[in-house]
Parts: sequence; C-alpha cells; structure tokens
Amino acid sequence: MEVNIKAYEDLKAKLDPVHVQLVAVSKTKSVEDILALYKLGQRDFGENYVQELIQKQAALPSDIHWHFIGHLQSNKIKQILPIVQLIQGVDSLKLLAEIDKQALKQNICVNCLLQVDIAHEETKFGMNEEEIASAFELTGDLNHVKVKGLMGMGSFTADKIKLRKEFKGLKELYDRFSNQHLLSILSMGMSQDYQLAIEEGSTMVRVGSLLFGERTAIIKN
Ligand SMILES: *Cc1c(COP(=O)(O)O)cnc(C)c1O
Repeated sequence: MEVNIKAYEDLKAKLDPVHVQLVAVSKTKSVEDILALYKLGQRDFGENYVQELIQKQAALPSDIHWHFIGHLQSNKIKQILPIVQLIQGVDSLKLLAEIDKQALKQNICVNCLLQVDIAHEETKFGMNEEEIASAFELTGDLNHVKVKGLMGMGSFTADKIKLRKEFKGLKELYDRFSNQHLLSILSMGMSQDYQLAIEEGSTMVRVGSLLFGERTAIIKN
C-alpha cells in the first residue's frame, strides 16, 4: 500500500493553522510507510499493539514520538514504558495505578490520557464520567503518571449529529477538569470524523487509513 503524500500535506495544511497535533496511526503498516511520512517531517506515530510497537521502535529513528493508542494489558506495561511518549488509552483506574507502579520501578514519569467511553459500543474501551472523576482524584496519590488530558473514539457511524454530540460531551468533560488538573490534550478525531472533532475542540487527531490506506490485516497482540 502506498502512503498518500497528498492526503498528508492537505491534512497538515488544515491542522497546523489551528494548532491541532497529528498522530499518524501506523498500526499494521510497514516501517517503510512510516519512514515515508518521517521524511516529510512527521514525528508522532500511533500504534495499538505492544509487539508491533517494540519492533518498529527498534527499527526506526529514535526521535519518533510513539503514542500507544490501543487497549493496554497490565502485564505489557513495563515493556512499553521506556519507549512510549504518551499512553493514550488508559481505560481503567486499575490500569492507571498499575502504570504508576511500573513507572516507579523504572524511575520515570509517564504521560497519559484517560480514555472516555463516548460511543458506548461493545467493541470500545473507556471510562464513564464517574470513573474519570475517580481517576483524577487518584492522580493526587500517583507520582509517576502525569494525566495530560482525555481521549475518546466516536461511534462507528456516518451520523454526524450523533458524532458531534459525542465529541461535544467529551469536550465538556475535558473543560470540567482542565483547569484544576492543567490538562492540555484532547485527543479526538480519526480519518472519518477528524473535521467534526476539530470543530468541537480537539487538540490532537489520530489519523490512519486516510494517510496509509485501508488496513487489510488485523494483527493481534
Ligand atoms: C486505528 C485507530 C485510529 C485510526 O483510525 P483510522 O480510521 O484509520 O484513521 C485512531 N484511534 C484509535 C484508538 C485507533 O485504534
């Protein structure tokens, strides 16, 4: 599959003026594909699977910022901590506490986003409002994780009204906690819905298929 250079340049031209950060989602895509965007200046890449992330990180330039955007299993935390810039999918209090524990052992501080369940679909992960509030309370006791913001995935639908409502809800939740907790990242928007997400206040979009083409294989952890 060819990387779509034109799509990348068009997307950057839309995002840069409004200061929205682009995470190029490269899951299942080759090292060569990633390098093609790297050469154009892209440094933030998102991966969903631990083994794949580890392999790619080892094979690619060290100034890439890797975002872990998948569902993270507790027993794999320690492997990714040394190489990841931002863990975007912190989807439970238990996982947050476990990341803190592992980061303490490695004597580092990890940047995280709390994942909010905005779509209420069975296939998607994330916390509800109440759990998000508890997670922010918990961060007061955790010295090795830094919660930088929230992340959410809109429903798998073409219904713009529904998607807009989901993004609006996530932005409201973000605003509620952002002053007290010095948040700076609201990660919402993917290939199909990034435009809507930006209109609703996204500061970071995670875009894969628009740049790298459709994914055919699903690689499991
Ligand atoms: C795969 C994935 C994306 C990118 O999806 P596209 O539709 O290919 O842009 C974004 N966020 C998460 C959490 C993903 O798993």
